[in-house]
Amino acid sequence: MNQKPFRFIVVSTPIGFLGSGKGGGVEVTLISILKGLLELGYEVSLVAPEGSLLPLECKEVQLFSLRGLDQPSWQHIDFNSPITIPLDGVLPRLLEVAFNLARDTDVILNLSFDWLPLWLTPHVQKKVFHLISMGAVSKVMKDLINNLSKTHHSRLAFHTFSQASDFDLSSDPVVVGNGFDLKNYTFQETNNGALGWAGRVAPEKGLEDAANVAALLRTTLIVWGLIEDNEYASQVEASVPAGTIQWRGFLETEKFQKQLGSCRAFINTPKWNEAYGNVVMEAMACGVPVVAYDRGGPGELVKSGVTGWLVPPDDLDQLKIALSKIDQIDRQNCRSWAIQSASYQAFSKRLENWIIEGLDI
Ligand code: UDP
Repeated sequence: MNQKPFRFIVVSTPIGFLGSGKGGGVEVTLISILKGLLELGYEVSLVAPEGSLLPLECKEVQLFSLRGLDQPSWQHIDFNSPITIPLDGVLPRLLEVAFNLARDTDVILNLSFDWLPLWLTPHVQKKVFHLISMGAVSKVMKDLINNLSKTHHSRLAFHTFSQASDFDLSSDPVVVGNGFDLKNYTFQETNNGALGWAGRVAPEKGLEDAANVAALLRTTLIVWGLIEDNEYASQVEASVPAGTIQWRGFLETEKFQKQLGSCRAFINTPKWNEAYGNVVMEAMACGVPVVAYDRGGPGELVKSGVTGWLVPPDDLDQLKIALSKIDQIDRQNCRSWAIQSASYQAFSKRLENWIIEGLDI
């Protein structure tokens, strides 16, 4: 029987404070992990940028809020860019506190997709595990993950096989999926709402394709999410007839979930190897069928013909055809699939198994 860790010290994303939306799906995933670990009976500490907010269910989590400048996100810089850590950056502070807190029996669970925590792993006694939240968006990160896999493969886990396939790993990846508090996602029977799209509004998310198809179908596309790139958002808006896009902005997760369920279909059109695609599973959790490109995580999340349709990436014609067949999907199947595959309780069990096994290696 492997030894259970005594306490988890979770390192948050250094891209922005929790609740800012800058951390994208990692913010929602992190809350699921905290809740799950508490319910499994662990003591949990969180180191996170100043301003981070936790829901009431996480009140047992010991929160360390640290000031410092946000870390630039890897997906918005050139593939060959060098490592950047801003002067007065928050990332080294998060790690300093996490390392100082950790006793021999503790585990550091790192959710920041960044160079420093990964690089440190072989050089410290503390047991650091990394839940990798992006594909290979940068050469320096890709090489580092490939190298760490050679010596510390058990310390790495991925959300999907598609994401993991971006890296040259030394053996089969540990794939843990993701998890959500499904009681917060209300099933809605309605199938005559607008089309929906959600995510950070940035080029890798491919909003332009969803907007184009909505324009071809002369229907409204509701868009939720943080506008990360204003110029890009304006370009997308200008590319379709006025009024096609209904911008709802970035909503608190709870409000977002309530509105999401009113859509007749949800469109997901990533231009990158999406690591998971939280919004895809969250839409299905509300009973909304998803039409997605068969690229990255969404290709593993949507059961084509059962919970929506997968179409070849970048194929607008197929996207349009799939949307015209959305009535063939039983919305209850979408909800059932989310319950079956993406509860936070099962997700935390998978994380626990990965870490307990990894501690023994
Ligand atoms: N989200 C939100 N409010 C919004 C729009 C999105 O809280 O108005 C959340 C959503 O619940 C999801 C996350 O933003 O969990 C986006 O995650 P995803 O994995 O889809 O994309 P990422 O931003 O990580 O690339």
